[in-house]
Amino acid sequence: MTTFSVQYDVIIIGGGPAGMMAALSVRHHHPDYSVAILDKTHELGRKFLTSGAGRGNLTNVHLEENPVAYFHGDAHFITSVFSQFGYRDIMAFFDELGVPTYEEKKTSRGKIFPEIDHAKTVRDMLVDTLGEHHIEIFYNVAITALVLSADYWTVETNDGSYTGRYIIMTAGGKTYPSLGADGSGYDLAAGTGHTIVTPVVTAVPIVSKNQLSHFMQGEKMVMEATSIIGGVNGTTAVGDVMFTQYGFSGPAIFDISHDFSVRINRENKRDAKIRLSFFPNKTAGEVKAILDKRLSVHATLPVAHSLWGLFTQKAAGAICAVAGLPKERLSGELNPQEYDKLFGVLTEFTSEVTDTRGWNEGEFTAGGVATDEVDAGSLASKKAKRLFFAGEILNVDGQVGGFNLSWAWSSGWVAGKLLETV
Ligand SMILES: Cc1cc2nc3c(=O)[nH]c(=O)nc-3n(C[C@H](O)[C@H](O)[C@H](O)COP(=O)(O)OP(=O)(O)OC[C@H]3O[C@@H](n4cnc5c(N)ncnc54)[C@H](O)[C@@H]3O)c2cc1C
Repeated sequence: MTTFSVQYDVIIIGGGPAGMMAALSVRHHHPDYSVAILDKTHELGRKFLTSGAGRGNLTNVHLEENPVAYFHGDAHFITSVFSQFGYRDIMAFFDELGVPTYEEKKTSRGKIFPEIDHAKTVRDMLVDTLGEHHIEIFYNVAITALVLSADYWTVETNDGSYTGRYIIMTAGGKTYPSLGADGSGYDLAAGTGHTIVTPVVTAVPIVSKNQLSHFMQGEKMVMEATSIIGGVNGTTAVGDVMFTQYGFSGPAIFDISHDFSVRINRENKRDAKIRLSFFPNKTAGEVKAILDKRLSVHATLPVAHSLWGLFTQKAAGAICAVAGLPKERLSGELNPQEYDKLFGVLTEFTSEVTDTRGWNEGEFTAGGVATDEVDAGSLASKKAKRLFFAGEILNVDGQVGGFNLSWAWSSGWVAGKLLETV
């Protein structure tokens, strides 16, 4: 092991999207400062490479809409960052970088991707740009401790110590720890006096043993999904739901999984349920009209056959089985109780949620550095001098669709201004 001491104006801990952007922001706002990124893995932005299934979900057209698409009690904290570097700035940044973009129209979610649909190329362009701006990158350097003395931070690592006047902490969250961010950033932040809101995995599949998932395993449908926490309706999302052997997955589940994860993994409560409707955005009356028409047109066929077309044969059979209908029950012979049960499965199928899947299956972390100890305007620590935070290490997580990467780019830019407040 080598032991050495290097002095920089700014040391950035973690070279994900937030760290890379913070470095470029420092260079923009403080052209004379020496800047180093230290990262514990052998390449930068490994998590970014997985985003958008390898395409790179850069941002979202709905980024600055109200209400904000973030799970955070303090909207001001979020908007103060995006008011300094928002959707237009992110788009202009990638335009200037040389990355043409497009809005994916397959869904109305407003996801922005690079036209080349290839995150790795974009990541390599970012790394090239860091080099062009003389930002030093140290790979395979894991930070183990931060010590503040009068004028400098000493950064202890697995490979000697570094010193810097300013620290920007961009060590990420805890999901997919093999990609670099493994929660060690929280320990570093706690060591500087910061409170860590218990991190829990989110945008994650949920465990909910139920008959519908059992019969529909492998099927995928656009549905309305609602979390019910302690008997109270939580978040509702419309999108694909995938039926799995353990319960549910898919974008609509990811969107409401925050509620389940916080309740189960942080608050240790076992009172969460999910409610699903096969008819998103339709009133009970509209669903009834659809069902009645099908049952009467196909009165001499089994009920499941009346549902074919709306659903696959497998899904129609599963719905009828869960409603407890005998296979041979004809559409014209449903009694009122059977009709009500069928209607209930179609519009408000409810199942207990007992757990979430783990850190290796979730996309984001909810929790992290408590934001009331960080200045909303500058992202400077209120606890320690010349310390800044950006990206997923902060207790900010957004919905699926480019909101988390947007947070990383924008908060990285704001932190890189190095506006001192302490
Ligand atoms: C499978 C998957 C899919 C995703 N898809 C999307 C998507 O489609 N849209 C979207 O907006 N977001 C998506 N995300 C989330 C998004 O990738 C993250 O929110 C974003 O990467 C966070 O950026 P960051 O820079 O804060 O942290 P990270 O990208 O996690 O970077 C942190 C860096 O810090 C380094 N580091 C950590 N600890 C230390 C230490 N002690 N010493 C030195 N270095 C350290 C790590 O090696 C890493 O390089 C996805 C995430 C995953 C896992």
